[in-house]
Amino acid sequence: MALSKNDIINLTITSTSADGSGVGKTQDGMAVFVPLSAVGDELEVRVLKAKKTYAFGKIERIVTPSSARIEPDCPVFSKCGGCVWRHVSYDEECRIKHQKVVDAVTRIGGIKDAVFSPIIKNDNVSRYRNKAQLPVGADKNGNLLIGFYAFHSHRIIDCNDCLLQPEIFAKVISVTRSFIEQSDNDIYDEKTGKGRLRHLYIRMGEVTKELMVCYVVNGNGLKQEDILIKMLRENLPALTSVIINTNRNDTNVILGEKNRTAFGRDYITDELCGLKFKISPFSFWQVNRSQAEKLYNKAKDYANLKSDEILLDLYCGTGTIGLTMAKECKTLVGVEIISDAINDAKENAEINSINNARFICGDASSAAEQLKNEGLKPDAVILDPPRKGCGEDLVKTIFEMSPSRVVYVSCDPATLARDLKYFEEYNYSVKEITPCDMFSRTAHVESVCLIEKN
Ligand code: SAH
Repeated sequence: MALSKNDIINLTITSTSADGSGVGKTQDGMAVFVPLSAVGDELEVRVLKAKKTYAFGKIERIVTPSSARIEPDCPVFSKCGGCVWRHVSYDEECRIKHQKVVDAVTRIGGIKDAVFSPIIKNDNVSRYRNKAQLPVGADKNGNLLIGFYAFHSHRIIDCNDCLLQPEIFAKVISVTRSFIEQSDNDIYDEKTGKGRLRHLYIRMGEVTKELMVCYVVNGNGLKQEDILIKMLRENLPALTSVIINTNRNDTNVILGEKNRTAFGRDYITDELCGLKFKISPFSFWQVNRSQAEKLYNKAKDYANLKSDEILLDLYCGTGTIGLTMAKECKTLVGVEIISDAINDAKENAEINSINNARFICGDASSAAEQLKNEGLKPDAVILDPPRKGCGEDLVKTIFEMSPSRVVYVSCDPATLARDLKYFEEYNYSVKEITPCDMFSRTAHVESVCLIEKN
């Protein structure tokens, strides 16, 4: 029987979709996607939208809860677009994430013989992030909102203390709130493009505890900035840096191009795998530093470098992965498309007295092609592309350079699976995959993968 909007159906949740919805099947075999449900739930579901072969619904009543359910501990869970897994146990979340990687790699990638290691769990499921980007807005009565966007929306859900962020961020939010309420600064309105303050952007060194607070402003600065800085300094002894970022564009991109240092330094520092790194407002830096160490250590095991070998680190960002392995090999070559990140990578090499590294600014595929034509023969290649993956052209170039090992770090199991299939077509075999939970309570899962030449 076809489903229609507002039908109430009984449904048992049997699996989870890639974006974190529970999925159950009707007696006719139609898949129904139900957000905020858990595998094992027996539910009454209201149909919200029905297509020919699948439907979307919402929980009307939990008839029998899944044994994996826990009480969500955040007041804005289910409203804010950040977390999807605060209603199931952490073990269940890890099971789902592991399965998501296995499903993608075996179904999309068609990879049969790889070993899937257990997921690397997060020791701190709460407050693991070192970065927050909070939109600032006003409700229809003009009340100040600082928080997070709702799912697939630009509606701001007010939130003083996000459980994924360090407690000190809540203090930054509350000081900012008091300042805005007592100062003459108006709030940016996306619809009209008028108003001053757009975003609050906070970063903290997890080891060093250094704190950077950045205000994204539609203009050159905030009114009464000196009072703001005084308030921040009085309440936050760890304050290292206050940055005013100018963004006058009608855009969803948070940061504009211009930064001005209103207090302290224009960067903070942190440590990773025993090295020191400089973090500027624009630099890519892993948001979960402790898990990044575990991920990089696994990548280092897979790379298994020897002192006479050459390592090529593609999509290197500020050089972090390669630099943590540079002492194990003869030469490190890093490639990255953002020039600021390359400058940071060079500086990070210097700070850590690493002098066997060189960094190239360019597109990974073109730079790899050029390095190949110059005769570079890496023994191992690290690949850490953004979500869209690396694609076939780069896999082909890597095949032509013929490294014995490739270590692929991925933030998207689907594009990882597609790229692994290319590697298998180019005379390489996927040996082992380790999922890693960097972003607990959210739908995202990272993995690291060892690929070897046949
Ligand atoms: N390996 C780094 C960064 C990984 S994030 C770390 O772990 O810290 C992915 C990086 O790929 C980003 O720094 C991004 O700027 C870069 N990037 C995106 N597209 C690229 C391309 N076509 N060529 C080279 N680098 C690219």
